[in-house]
Amino acid sequence: MTDCIFCDIASGEMDADVVYEDDRIVAFEDANPQAPVHLLVIPKNHIESLEEVPEDEFDLIADIHKTIQKLARSEGIAESGYRVVNNCGEEGGQTVGHVHFHLLGGRELSWPPG
Ligand code: 5GP
Ligand code: ZN
Repeated sequence: MTDCIFCDIASGEMDADVVYEDDRIVAFEDANPQAPVHLLVIPKNHIESLEEVPEDEFDLIADIHKTIQKLARSEGIAESGYRVVNNCGEEGGQTVGHVHFHLLGGRELSWPPG
């Protein structure tokens, strides 16, 4: 175990309902879902937030979005629509300090968020 819960999920040391995994990325069900589909997609390596992504690692962020597109299709929400959210930093509402992208769908989502 480390002091980062998402690192522990990525390494398999902490349980999660994993729906996708490859050598660099893991996707799992959010423990407190805000929509019928609510997945979190993360890099396996520890990066604190979007703000901390090194210039030469943005291919990883692109791959995460490719994964999100695939997951939206496999979860059956690609046609109806979905939302991808990254909360960054304190005022952005980030509560877990390991960069992650929320994939939300399966209901009508309001905008703007509160
Ligand atoms: P944030 O607010 O940082 O953007 O989102 C963190 C998300 O992580 C929240 O939606 C929260 O429900 C989820 N979360 C926090 N701890 C755990 C956990 O241990 N397991 C899983 N699967 N999700 C978690
Ligand atoms: Zn981490």
